[in-house]
Amino acid sequence: MRYTVTSRGDDTSNALRKKVDKYLKEFGLTEDSETPEIVITIGGDGTFLHAFHQYSNLLSETCFVGIHTGHLGFYADWKPEEVEKLVIHIAKTPFQVVEYPLLEVVVRHYDRPQSDRYLVLNECTIKTLEGSLVCDVEIKGEPFETFRGDGLCISTPSGSTAYNKALGGAILHPSLASMQIAEMASINNRVYRTVGSPLILPQHHTCLLKPLNEVDMQITLDHKSIVDQCIKSIQCRVAEEKVRFARFRPLPFWKRVKESFIGE
Ligand code: NAP
Repeated sequence: MRYTVTSRGDDTSNALRKKVDKYLKEFGLTEDSETPEIVITIGGDGTFLHAFHQYSNLLSETCFVGIHTGHLGFYADWKPEEVEKLVIHIAKTPFQVVEYPLLEVVVRHYDRPQSDRYLVLNECTIKTLEGSLVCDVEIKGEPFETFRGDGLCISTPSGSTAYNKALGGAILHPSLASMQIAEMASINNRVYRTVGSPLILPQHHTCLLKPLNEVDMQITLDHKSIVDQCIKSIQCRVAEEKVRFARFRPLPFWKRVKESFIGE
């Protein structure tokens, strides 16, 4: 099997990366950072996000597994002391693959005909560099509201424990093929009105955001960010593609939620 190991870059993660690499080679696996069948990330959920984007062109052939060298992560859920066990699993046992939904984001511009398509694992956010974001929100082709406020966050179910949660969004089980729209400080008074609650949309419902003010827009796509003044629309929906996780043992999602946010 072809594998690659990525690291957050700190000394602990780099040392563990060397160890995992050595073990996998001893088991006869082939290091291949171009077309890996399994990507092992060492660091945290942030490291996992970087690896996802690095290999997002290989999603149907590649699966991911994350080891955390800090706190328990949602994507990075193996402990450093478990690496020997994990390597034996990877090398010796056919593993189960679990798929999680992704978000497709299509950005259209006023100044060029071609649109840009992105896949995100956690979320896409839309904000402005200065002042409030004013934008029309359409859901499934119908006008829904005009949003005025700091911004909007559209997240995947697995991203619901990240930025979305900080905005008061619900935590969704990643088996639900859906996306969630959460507001960032909407202005609500007698003039401006938004729904005020996070919305959860099913697969094949599209959300279209059309900025109304001509200011620099900041669009974040997980850890990445783009700034553009000529954004015509941002279209979000559940992607056809999915991210594939190599599953070697049961680790219930709600157990991870409890351990991450409530404690043992
Ligand atoms: P960062 O600001 O260095 O770290 C963001 C934090 O979010 C890290 O603690 C990271 O965990 C955690 N995280 C990432 N994905 C998660 C998930 N699915 N569930 C729960 N926690 C998660 O940024 P980064 O490392 O480049 O990651 C970008 C992400 O930061 C974005 O996708 C966004 O979700 C998140 N973010 C959150 C807020 C907020 O909560 N107010 C604001 C901006 C961005 P690790 O420590 O394990 O890496």
